Amino acid sequence: MQADFIVAGATLIDGSGGPARQGDLAVRDGRIVAMGDFPHPEGVPVIDGRGQVLAPGFIDSHTHDDGYLLAHPDMLPKVSQGITTVVTGNCGISLAPLERDAIPQPLDLLGPPELFRFGTFRAWMDALRATPAAVNVIPLVGHTTLRVAVMDDTSRAADNGERAAMRGLMQEALDAGAFGVSTGTFYPPASAAPTDEIIDVCRPLKDLRASGRLGLYATHLRDEADHIVPAMEEALLIGRELDCRVVFSHHKLAGERNHGRTRETLDLISRAAASQRVCLDCHPYPATSTMLRLDRARLASRTMITWSKGYPEATGRDFTDVMQELGLDDEAAVSRLAPAGAIYFLMDPADVNRIFTHPLTMVGSDGLPFDPHPHPRQWGTFTNVLRTMVREQRLLSLEAAIHKMTGLAASQYGVAERGLLREGYHADLVLFDPATVTDVATFSAPIQASQGIHAVWVNGKRVWDGERTGTDRPGQVLTPGDALPRSL
Ligand SMILES: [Zn+2]
Repeated sequence: MQADFIVAGATLIDGSGGPARQGDLAVRDGRIVAMGDFPHPEGVPVIDGRGQVLAPGFIDSHTHDDGYLLAHPDMLPKVSQGITTVVTGNCGISLAPLERDAIPQPLDLLGPPELFRFGTFRAWMDALRATPAAVNVIPLVGHTTLRVAVMDDTSRAADNGERAAMRGLMQEALDAGAFGVSTGTFYPPASAAPTDEIIDVCRPLKDLRASGRLGLYATHLRDEADHIVPAMEEALLIGRELDCRVVFSHHKLAGERNHGRTRETLDLISRAAASQRVCLDCHPYPATSTMLRLDRARLASRTMITWSKGYPEATGRDFTDVMQELGLDDEAAVSRLAPAGAIYFLMDPADVNRIFTHPLTMVGSDGLPFDPHPHPRQWGTFTNVLRTMVREQRLLSLEAAIHKMTGLAASQYGVAERGLLREGYHADLVLFDPATVTDVATFSAPIQASQGIHAVWVNGKRVWDGERTGTDRPGQVLTPGDALPRSL
């Protein structure tokens, strides 16, 4: 056997949810070539893994990194918490296809206007391939982006001509290799889109089935508060009509009066899973973050400003303090700060825990990478789960948590030969200390790398050594690899 390097004596957690075992693992040419107990060939570098866990690299099931991958290819916030693959284009907003100087909210969450320079989805993917990042990418195309690209007025339903134009862009994205589509009907540029528009525009997802591909529909629901159940039923209907998988994005119940209702929504998901393909993602924090909106601020027990063009001094501060300083009520203050972003404390920690223990829940950071004072999830989601949910609360076993971060996500997104430790699989790997691994980012100091992640490899190349990123940029734009999964 030949190898580029061997990690020896580690606790191998293979991503399947199965029990940990002790062993060595060898890598050559970007693949895992041996696992368990095998003779070490002479001269091959050996990394001491004793006392550490070696697992498949984490898959961030929900990101807004479309432009960040190009602007900051070392992907420090992600590799430092063990992430080797990111799903982009969520919540209806993908960077492409859109060439525009003025970008409406919430598309501006993806970064500055100069990033929006790709008239086709393939052009963005080509740019990523020409200047790769440190991590792999699972791309989705956003329905809101298509609306902004095609419609002169997004405050109404699309007419037949506009639907056909969007469908053409959708087809181009899927042909280029997008894994699926996302919607964000919670947000202004898409909230006027009726259900039948979405089905009509996304019809190419259904056509994938003829070639053995399973489409994917990820959705930031129209409503995550009082009217969440009809919003979920709409998403399930769209999934049935398009014969594709439904991903409920950042599942949550917002507002105190809705606390505890995850019993109802998770039950709905479990019942739906008996007859259609469905899964969900979540992060471990009871606070969420997006553009500053009055309805969200009124639902939240506390709102923090992450950035503001109208009143930059508000960045990093409590909205209530800013209102007082300006002598304005909440409605006037929102207008004064706009455009702006915010963190909202509006979930019940018990709901977050209940969501995490659902067998179909993956881990997604949903971070907003360009925020000057971001939600700590951008830097700490995965290590926060390992600290709080595994070590402190003992809510999940380490094997179960890693399965959610790896094998479950790979199978739900239809990624071939990743997400598990298996001979022949791509060598996306993370080596960490299960006793000390921790997030460091907090709501007051959110830009901080995690601790206890000692090494991260993407396609066999080291991209993080515990303190700094590597010089290699081995990330690949992944291609939908699955035929139909064996089970629902
Ligand atoms: Zn969202």
